[in-house]
Amino acid sequence: MKTLDGIVVEAEFCPSPNFDNRSKNADIDLFVIHAISLPEGNYNTQLIKDLFLNNLSPGNNKFLQSIKNLRVSSHFLVTRSGSLIQFVPIHKRAWHAGKSNYQGRENCNDFSIGIELEGCDTEEFTSAQYKSLSHLISHISADLKINKKNIVGHNEIAPGRKTDPGPYFDWDLLKSMI
Ligand SMILES: [Zn+2]
Repeated sequence: MKTLDGIVVEAEFCPSPNFDNRSKNADIDLFVIHAISLPEGNYNTQLIKDLFLNNLSPGNNKFLQSIKNLRVSSHFLVTRSGSLIQFVPIHKRAWHAGKSNYQGRENCNDFSIGIELEGCDTEEFTSAQYKSLSHLISHISADLKINKKNIVGHNEIAPGRKTDPGPYFDWDLLKSMI
């Protein structure tokens, strides 16, 4: 893998407007793993892109209607087939974690890379996703000198509020691959 101007060249780049600058002294040293499917359990990658690009057409779906006006993003999305999509350059601050705390430090968006996996709380992730995710983490951690141990689930930094990546995410497998 290769990064140019904060964008991984192997990824499909879909620029999201939902980001801002990190503070000047921000030291990026954490990966936050998320899971998303829209609606939950339904794998329609286009809806996730639409959400992150502020383009979501919710139709009659009550859940999609409820999230339509959120202004959120992540740096990356790994689809079920393992394809990599990037929404925000890694040196910019993506809006993925919300209210959060990592080892006493608040607002994890300031110092983290957000990676969404297309998935949900009730189903295993695909082997293609672990392969793509582990390659991505290995590449970015080398690029930005992030300790590979600094990987958390969204649920760990926003307990009680978030459950992703959920009980089916295989942490041991990921750690064995990076
Ligand atoms: Zn999340």
